[in-house]
Amino acid sequence: MPCGEPMKILPFRAVIAAATLIAIAPATYAKDADAPVTEAELADHIRILSSDAFEGRGPGTEGEDRTIAYVVGEWAKAGLEPVPGSATPWLQGVPLIETQATGGTATFRVGGGELAFDADGIVLTGRDASVSLAGVPVVFVGYGVDGAGRVNADVKGKLAIMLFDSAPFGDTLPRYRERRQMLADAGAAGVLVIATDAVPWPQLRDAAGGKVTRLASAKSGAPVTGFLSPAAADTLFRKAGQNGAALREAAQAGDYRGAALSATADIRATATVRSYESNNIIAKLPGAKPDGKAVLFLGHWDHLGICAPDDPKDRICNGAIDNASGIAVLIEVAKRLAGGARPDRDIYFMATTSEEKGLLGARWFADHPVVPLADIIVALNIDTIAISPRGTPVATIGRGKPAYDAVVRAVAETLGRKIDDDGEADSFLQRQDGWALGAKGVTALMVGGSFSDMPLLEKFLGSDYHEPADAFSDKIPLGGAAEDADLHVALGRAFADTRRWAGDAK
Ligand SMILES: [Zn+2]
Repeated sequence: MPCGEPMKILPFRAVIAAATLIAIAPATYAKDADAPVTEAELADHIRILSSDAFEGRGPGTEGEDRTIAYVVGEWAKAGLEPVPGSATPWLQGVPLIETQATGGTATFRVGGGELAFDADGIVLTGRDASVSLAGVPVVFVGYGVDGAGRVNADVKGKLAIMLFDSAPFGDTLPRYRERRQMLADAGAAGVLVIATDAVPWPQLRDAAGGKVTRLASAKSGAPVTGFLSPAAADTLFRKAGQNGAALREAAQAGDYRGAALSATADIRATATVRSYESNNIIAKLPGAKPDGKAVLFLGHWDHLGICAPDDPKDRICNGAIDNASGIAVLIEVAKRLAGGARPDRDIYFMATTSEEKGLLGARWFADHPVVPLADIIVALNIDTIAISPRGTPVATIGRGKPAYDAVVRAVAETLGRKIDDDGEADSFLQRQDGWALGAKGVTALMVGGSFSDMPLLEKFLGSDYHEPADAFSDKIPLGGAAEDADLHVALGRAFADTRRWAGDAK
């Protein structure tokens, strides 16, 4: 689960590692097909996937190679198949670009002199390895949008200075990241956001200086972006003959068109930019009576990798709960569904990459699906599942479609589970891979006990979550995860049953 936000040849090695595993005899688990998933089975997978040998499963690392080899090996043993016609069997390449700022300076020519700020006044990030701009006109754009949500000023070739806070003249207007992108799309040479008291300056500085990863297919931002402290902004306005308070006041109007400042900027910024490819792992269980519709199980395999390189005690964020636990469930669900009576419909299994970097693998799949999205009758995401004990009620993130909710309720109650429909789980809707599919119209659900008991979940989120401490131990509660695995086997059977589920309900 993500927070509330070099050339490499790995895929080749990974493909070889995966290819060597394809020959393993399928369906060796058939005899256990009807047996409940056990805590010991899940523990075995979690222990391996979150071991230090996997280095925290960082995309583009040897930990990815090992993860691919393990997951493909388990799914092949279970009897799953690579998706027919895929260029790299079992894998879908996901091209990524990682940028990390390494330095930046801005000098403003204003009022007959030069003005520069130190790291307490300005932080800059270049989009490319080296950016150098000279004599760029500076314009204050207020919120950067008008009351209709359109870019409000001519920013082409200019350095736009924009307010961080949400615009006061509408409640569906975009937040600052989107407004910054809109200004970039409008041709701004740079966008500086005036910081707000709501976010401490060191936090903004660190965010701007950290690694940022995006899909290679995503729109690029302006050549230079950054933050300006409120005091630095006021100094710049004053030297340009303007009053900061008056500018901010004028910007409160929905028809504000910005103010050109009598100033130009010279900007240099450097960054390391690394393009690389990671992989979604995708497998198929062909249906016995395929009708062109499909069920998709997914969960993210990636975690934060070597997250504390300077920590002598523990450098690795192993991601045992987040989300080796979900991958363990995906493996056991695949074994049960492949080993028992073959479901009618095709069932796909996907372990996504780079969820922690912003659902990037799931977003890539949504843009490049191996089966038409309109044919996916339901996507069932499994993330951070080893939280609750047996007997925890079942909550559903993404609920609200009565026909689907009825199936989940019926299947859960058949297994003796209670339903939790207090809606608390909904707050995690955008923090899980299903969101990327839901945004494209796929019914995406995350079903289980982990998001039902909020005090238990918040205890994890407030302690081991995204820390080296999220490592395997015998204390990880797996009772609820085992029950949730059985629930997913049953849900897979229900949604893949052409007699039980027509596949076109809303
Ligand atoms: Zn996470």
